[in-house]
Amino acid sequence: MFDADFFRRWMTATATSVDREAERLTALDSPIGDADHGSNLRRGFTAVTATLEKEAPDTPGGVLTLAGRQLISTVGGASGPLYGTLLRRTGKALGDASEVSAEQLAEALRAGVEAVMTLGGAAPGDKTMIDALVPAVDALGSGFAAARTAAEEGALATTPLQARKGRASYLGERSIGHQDPGATSAALLIAALAEAAGE
Ligand code: ADP
Ligand code: MG
Repeated sequence: MFDADFFRRWMTATATSVDREAERLTALDSPIGDADHGSNLRRGFTAVTATLEKEAPDTPGGVLTLAGRQLISTVGGASGPLYGTLLRRTGKALGDASEVSAEQLAEALRAGVEAVMTLGGAAPGDKTMIDALVPAVDALGSGFAAARTAAEEGALATTPLQARKGRASYLGERSIGHQDPGATSAALLIAALAEAAGE
């Protein structure tokens, strides 16, 4: 079972890895975007860890809905509302239980990913964060390490794709040959989940 502390560790581990990888995320966002993805997420997850420390929600759902709200209010780019929706919707699906099972977490995360697809209109293959998130959720039944590997492979597999959503889509065929920054950060988010689980 996973409690509020586990979800707090997930968010803290994400903040640490986003901070460490911010330059790389921004570099990926430079040829097919506006070179702000790393700084956007660094600002967002720094605010998330600060607010989680201050408000200390005591349920898994409380941690994720607060984190999601914070991302939406602090990240200006497209990724803020999208990641914010992912965490908020996942948190809402977890309800107010004080502990949740791996199955409940997988089911809630699927609802979160579906909400991102509804909000942003992206499907798998459109060269977005969805290309890492959907394989991760599909693999989660086999464990956190499997989900991490699936997300990392999904992010790498965005390179030959042409972007059909977001800023990168304005480039048309010129978006081909570059790894998507949002799929890369989504793989960091899933790796942090595996890290929080000790895998
Ligand atoms: P912006 O594009 O506003 O500068 P960011 O640079 O922070 O925002 O985030 C860009 C990332 O957001 C992209 O690499 C992509 O993965 C993701 N993204 C953009 N639009 C969408 C969308 N409609 N659906 C899903 N993900 C999207
Ligand atoms: Mg950008």
